[in-house]
Amino acid sequence: MLRASCHCGAVHIDLERKPRSLTRCTCSICRRYGARWAYCTRRTASVYSDPGALAAYTWGDATIEFYHCRRCGCLTHYESVDKNEGSRIAVNARMLPPEDTAGIRVRTFDGAATWRYLD
Ligand SMILES: [Zn+2]
Repeated sequence: MLRASCHCGAVHIDLERKPRSLTRCTCSICRRYGARWAYCTRRTASVYSDPGALAAYTWGDATIEFYHCRRCGCLTHYESVDKNEGSRIAVNARMLPPEDTAGIRVRTFDGAATWRYLD
């Protein structure tokens, strides 16, 4: 199990297993956040937070919600608005200890234009 945590510790996410790859997305929001996504589901990643610690951001057609810690500001994950057991949680692997992500391949996804991986 791996544990991702925001800086202040008000939010943490437990991942069932080590991700095989991480994704750096070029879309308008991911490039600003500088996130590296580890794609999980609600079965393989569990989010824990202090009451009121999580804030969500959506825009446009509002199909996904980006969550950050209200206290320290760290972007922790995103999820689809329609939450079910199998739905995706993308965990920001920047919240993991560096030794837990060392050596994991980082793939670039062209979310800005072609919606394809660039490797
Ligand atoms: Zn925090």
